[in-house]
Amino acid sequence: MVTGEFSAAHRTHAPRLSDAENLALYGLCNNPAGHGHNYRAELYLPPGAAVPHGLWAEFDHKNLSADIPDLRGRNVVTEAIAKLVAQRVPQARRVRVWETAAFFAEYDAAEARYRLGRRYRFNAAHRLHNPRLTPEENRRLYGPCHSPDPHGHTYLVEITVAGVLDPRTETAYDLRQLDQRAGDILSALDYTDLDGEVAAFRDDPSTGENIAAYLWSRFADQVGRALEAVSVWETAGRAFRVEAAHKAVRLE
Ligand SMILES: [Zn+2]
Ligand SMILES: [Zn+2]
Repeated sequence: MVTGEFSAAHRTHAPRLSDAENLALYGLCNNPAGHGHNYRAELYLPPGAAVPHGLWAEFDHKNLSADIPDLRGRNVVTEAIAKLVAQRVPQARRVRVWETAAFFAEYDAAEARYRLGRRYRFNAAHRLHNPRLTPEENRRLYGPCHSPDPHGHTYLVEITVAGVLDPRTETAYDLRQLDQRAGDILSALDYTDLDGEVAAFRDDPSTGENIAAYLWSRFADQVGRALEAVSVWETAGRAFRVEAAHKAVRLE
């Protein structure tokens, strides 16, 4: 993977929508004066391939909505930026652009479609204890997470949705809708004792695998087939992921 960074202004504004629709959809990001981000790009290239010299100079310290002819008249959302970078680097199989630490858009050239990743956090207590196991088995399996008193984590959750562009909005998924759904789903866990208060973890302890599987089923209900992956970090070094094949995988 090759990475690059650029700082740039843009305005989120879909030309095919009315001003009122744009304002309702994008809020502050629709500010006519524009706003800016420190973008970070990740390019997945074949072995030995490199990005063209000066690639990032085209984007860095520019107003993407005004200065880039290829983006003029477009809704300059992160999907459009990822696709343009992919066009500049035709060898890239995938180009992922992080707009903030909590949001990326990725253009998958091989599949000609997009992925959007949105990150959320929730804070919760838990204590891992499986009543079907002996005390010794519980201790061995769960280590410090089996201590008699609950402890807590700030869980990081990444929801990945995939799709093609809606021709009216030029976006691959309605992020406002995703945020609302995530708010509903995660507020049921935020500031709770997972094993003591959340029915889903009464019999199946709140391991990272079980939390990821629970979130997968809740988001799949809401998002449907657009849902591609759910990742949960219990701590920075302990990640769990469920993908469309619906199998929990411990990452690290
Ligand atoms: Zn923005
Ligand atoms: Zn724990």
